[in-house]
Amino acid sequence: MAQHQFQTEVNRLLHLIIHSLYSNREIFLRELVSNASDALDRLKYLTVADDAYKDIAFDPRIDISFDKEKKTLTITDNGIGMNEEDMVESLGTIARSGTRQFLEKLTTDAKKDSNLIGQFGVGFYSAFIVAEKIEVVSRKAGEDAAWRWLSEGKESFDIETATRETQGTTVTLFLNEEGEDFTNRWSIEDIIKRYSNHVAFPIYLTYDQKEYDDKGKETGSSVKTEQVNDGAAIWRKNKSELKNEDYVEFYKQITHDTEEPLFYIHTKAEGTLEYNTLFYIPKKTPFDLYHVDYKPGVKLYVKRVFITDDDKELMPTWLRFVRGVIDSEDLPLNISREILQQNKILSNIKNASVKKLLAEFKTISETDKEKWDIFAGQYNRPLKEGVYQDWVNREALIDLLRFKSTAVEGWTSFAEYVSRMKEGQKNIYYLSGGDEKTLRASPLLEAWQAKGIEVLIMDEEVDEIVMPTITKYEKKEGETTLSWDVKGVNHVGADTELGKTDKQSEKDLKPVLTKLKKALGDQVKDVKLSKRLYDSPSCIVTEEDDPSIKMAQMFKAMGQPTPEIKPVLEINGEHPIVTRLRDCTDEEHIADVAIVLLDQALLVEGVRLSDSADFIKRLNRLLTGTPVSDKSV
Ligand code: ADP
Repeated sequence: MAQHQFQTEVNRLLHLIIHSLYSNREIFLRELVSNASDALDRLKYLTVADDAYKDIAFDPRIDISFDKEKKTLTITDNGIGMNEEDMVESLGTIARSGTRQFLEKLTTDAKKDSNLIGQFGVGFYSAFIVAEKIEVVSRKAGEDAAWRWLSEGKESFDIETATRETQGTTVTLFLNEEGEDFTNRWSIEDIIKRYSNHVAFPIYLTYDQKEYDDKGKETGSSVKTEQVNDGAAIWRKNKSELKNEDYVEFYKQITHDTEEPLFYIHTKAEGTLEYNTLFYIPKKTPFDLYHVDYKPGVKLYVKRVFITDDDKELMPTWLRFVRGVIDSEDLPLNISREILQQNKILSNIKNASVKKLLAEFKTISETDKEKWDIFAGQYNRPLKEGVYQDWVNREALIDLLRFKSTAVEGWTSFAEYVSRMKEGQKNIYYLSGGDEKTLRASPLLEAWQAKGIEVLIMDEEVDEIVMPTITKYEKKEGETTLSWDVKGVNHVGADTELGKTDKQSEKDLKPVLTKLKKALGDQVKDVKLSKRLYDSPSCIVTEEDDPSIKMAQMFKAMGQPTPEIKPVLEINGEHPIVTRLRDCTDEEHIADVAIVLLDQALLVEGVRLSDSADFIKRLNRLLTGTPVSDKSV
């Protein structure tokens, strides 16, 4: 017998699962049944796709039995099985990516954690909520040796050789006090019906049936085995046969989510291509959505045979939050996973699925604001990625985007913005490049606010990349197409409609601009008189194609090659700080004012100063009115 230590993360997860899922402990059975179902899926695929497995007599099934006296519960499948190496790998570590980040997100609030753990998928380890010891005996298909894995869910587990007649896995739980309720026919049947009714393989429950004579006297008992689930693939059924609960139960089974999905779309296509799809949108963003090695959420089946759940090409990347199943009747069963991407049938199914999802998104966005607001809160970012990546569906996606705004609470769309536009307004304005609070406080908004023009607040990092690609927004009204320019108010040239400075003051202040430009040298691209400032003395803007200074700094911090972005400094020609400079000839004083005007404009945009000590020194000098020649300051 060899003893192995659990990976540190497993230890932590075990502890968390046991404490946060305590009140929802019956889900352990769903997890074990779901593992058994996956194991059957995998073997089924091999028997049709790989000649080496052709001779295996395969009658897929899952069996559950229990022993009240011994306090054991057993789940058996005749699926793919595990060898010693698989056991160490699968039942001793957490292979899933992002585990560490996930664990860091956990709090000590059991309710919140149980939601998170639900999203993460608790899996096999959840059985330790109800078991003080677990034994797994398994034999891998195509191999002769069998192995026994044993653990009390503390620091370690043991593996030794064992015997097993055929391929498959038997998991035996030695139940603890909390688990004793599960040695009962009715509670097991109830849990299976609730959580695993639509597992696509039959689940049999074996129990003792007591027998009675005519007078109701117990005469003995006999062993009965009965199928307790529906056992048919839910996605192949007709919608009319299914209830909301059926869809929800299947969703929870495939995602391990503890919450219901936000909505789902079930499609049966008949005609040139025959296929079934069942797609779900989770209520919460899957935890690994923004990890490079995220796990795709759509499984591919061919004629009910599971092919893969690990193909990122089944959906466009911007739809990677979708969960569900595609089952095709037309693909060959032995299709190799490697060439799937080049398959024409599959790419047609994929395109049709994207269209279907977009159509459903459109309907919901137009008819169910509450639902769509939840969607926007979770999936705006992937939709924006779609705007950037998917040129075919770009227009449809732009209509689905929702934004924060200076004019309304909550989410709004381009179309709604347009409906609120001022008479004669030609542009849709937005401000990007920082968090919501900084953006809302930005002096860049002053002129728009003074004129009552709405500005959309773009506070996501992707906005800086995506929004500059949306230069126009078009909307059909009957025969005509209406069109508006989309402009960032933090860019040079976005303020043409506002027109505040008159020609005279422009001429008046020319010498000031020259002095400031000279003092700032190559720290700025240009110094201009602003039409957008009312209260603040200065602000920074960038050229139309440049990212904001804040974003450029962030890209740099992430190690991305970023060209040096220089801002254009705009100054408020009516502000006393600026007008006072008209008659000033003291070059060092002008330099102090120039740097303070630039640095305060950077600070208010949330940009880190490159030399804050210098800024403070100059500011103090200005505040105390100390002569610049006095170097003691
Ligand atoms: P998940 O199912 O999300 O991968 P689990 O912790 O439930 O996570 O299971 C870990 C792994 O152990 C599975 O991915 C699978 O490789 C293996 N495994 C668990 N149960 C079985 C089983 N009944 N038959 C074969 N392999 C299994």
